[in-house]
Amino acid sequence: MPDISTVIIGAGHCGLAMSSCLAARSVDHVVLERAEVANSWRTQRWDSLRLLTPNWMTRLPGYAYRGSDPDGFMSARQVAAMLEDYAEATAAPVLAGTTVTSVRAAGDGFVVATDQGTWRASTVVVACGAAAVPAVPPLARLVPAGITSVTPAGYRNPDELPPGGVLVVGASASGVQLADELARSGREVTLAVGEHVRMPRTYRGRDILWWLDAAGVLDQRYDEVDDVVRARNVPSMQLVGSPDRTVDLNALRSGGVRLVGRLAGLQKGTAQFSGSLPNVCALADLKLGRLLDTIDAWAGGSGERFAPTAVCTAPLGLDLRSGEISAIVWATGYRPDLSWLQVPVLDRKGRVVHDGGVTGWPGLYLLGMPFLRRRKSSLIDGAAGDAADLTAHLAGHLDAQAGRRERKAS
Ligand SMILES: Cc1cc2nc3c(=O)[nH]c(=O)nc-3n(C[C@H](O)[C@H](O)[C@H](O)COP(=O)(O)OP(=O)(O)OC[C@H]3O[C@@H](n4cnc5c(N)ncnc54)[C@H](O)[C@@H]3O)c2cc1C
Repeated sequence: MPDISTVIIGAGHCGLAMSSCLAARSVDHVVLERAEVANSWRTQRWDSLRLLTPNWMTRLPGYAYRGSDPDGFMSARQVAAMLEDYAEATAAPVLAGTTVTSVRAAGDGFVVATDQGTWRASTVVVACGAAAVPAVPPLARLVPAGITSVTPAGYRNPDELPPGGVLVVGASASGVQLADELARSGREVTLAVGEHVRMPRTYRGRDILWWLDAAGVLDQRYDEVDDVVRARNVPSMQLVGSPDRTVDLNALRSGGVRLVGRLAGLQKGTAQFSGSLPNVCALADLKLGRLLDTIDAWAGGSGERFAPTAVCTAPLGLDLRSGEISAIVWATGYRPDLSWLQVPVLDRKGRVVHDGGVTGWPGLYLLGMPFLRRRKSSLIDGAAGDAADLTAHLAGHLDAQAGRRERKAS
C-alpha cells in the first residue's frame, strides 16, 4: 500500500491550487481524479455557458490571465483547457481515472480506497466539488408524466428540450441564465423566483466584479461575518458572462419571461407558487442598494441607482397537465457528493462540519465550499488564498505528527 503525506481528492481548480501550494512546501502528495483534470467543466456545463467572472479574475497560485481579452468571459471549454495547462505547468501529480471509493481514519492518518488500489495518507484534502450533484427538491417526484425534467448539469441547449413552454425553478445564476437563453430561443418561459441576489453587470462604468474585488467585498473572511451558516447559503449572483448584459428580473421580464413566486408545492398536477414574490424582490433590491452604498463609501461619490424590480400580479398556480409546460429546469442548486467519506465529520444533513476548511478530525481538510474561508471561496479566484491557508495548517499538522513519531521512537 503506497504511503504518502497528502492525498487530494479531485483535480478541479481547487485540487490543483492545493497541489501547487503543497509542492511549494515540498509536501509529497498525489491528486486522485475519477475522470480527468477539470472534469466538471467538460461534462456538467451547458453549451453556451461562459464564466460570470471576467478573465482577469481567473487567478490561481502562480497563474494570472495574460491573454488579450482580460475583460472577456471564458467558455467552459476554455476553462478546461486553462486548467489542463495549469496542471501541466505546475507538474501536478494527478492520477486520472481513479475514483475514491472510501476514506476512513486509521492510526494517526487515513486509508484511502480507490478503484485502482489503496493509499495510506497522513492527511487528506477533500476537493471533490461543492456542485457535484444537482440539489432537486423532493416535490420533483410529483411532476406529471410527460413533462421532461432537467437540471443545469444535464441541460445542454434549448433544442434538446421538447417543444413547448418551460418552467425554470430557481432564479440564481444558473436559473436566470437558462431562463434568458430559453426565452431568447423563442420559448414561453415561466421563472419561479425565491430568495435571490440581484446584481447589475456594470456599475459606475466598470464591471461589478471589479468593484467587489477592489473594495474587498469578496475578501471578507468567514470569521468576520455575523452568521457564517447563513452566509454560506446565500444564493449565487444573478450574472451572465457577457459584457454590459444584466440578467436581473426586470431584464428577464422585458425579454418576455413570466415571473412567479417560489415553487412551494405540487398537488394533483398543479404547481403552487408562494405569494412572497414582491417581498423577495423588495429584499433583493434593498440588499443591492446596500451593496452599492458600500462600494460608494469605498470609492467616494455616488453612482446610479437601479429601478426597483417591477412585480406584476403573479399567478399562484399553474396546471402542469394543461400542455402549457413541456419541460421543467430544476435550477435549485447543487450539493457535494461525499457518500464515500467514512470519517465522522458529517452533521445530520450530511454536511462536513469544519472551521474554515479544517475539520474536527485532525489531518482532514475541505476545499471549494461556499464561503469556506472567504466570500469568494466558491469562485476560482478564491482557491489561492484558501489553499495557502490550509497548506500552512496542514504543514503544521505534519510537522507536529513527525515530532510525535520522533519522540516515540527515541
Ligand atoms: C454552472 C456553474 C457555473 C459556475 N461559474 C463560475 C464562474 O463563472 N466563475 C467562478 O469563479 N466559479 C464558477 N463556478 C463555481 C466553481 O468555480 C465551480 O463549481 C468549480 O468547478 C469548482 O471547482 P472545484 O475544484 O471545487 O470542484 P470541481 O471542478 O467540481 O472538481 C472536483 C473534481 O473532483 C472529482 N471527483 C469527485 N468525486 C471524486 C471521487 N470520489 N474520486 C475522485 N475524484 C472525484 C471530479 O471528477 C472533479 O473533477 C460555477 C459553478 C457552476 C456549477
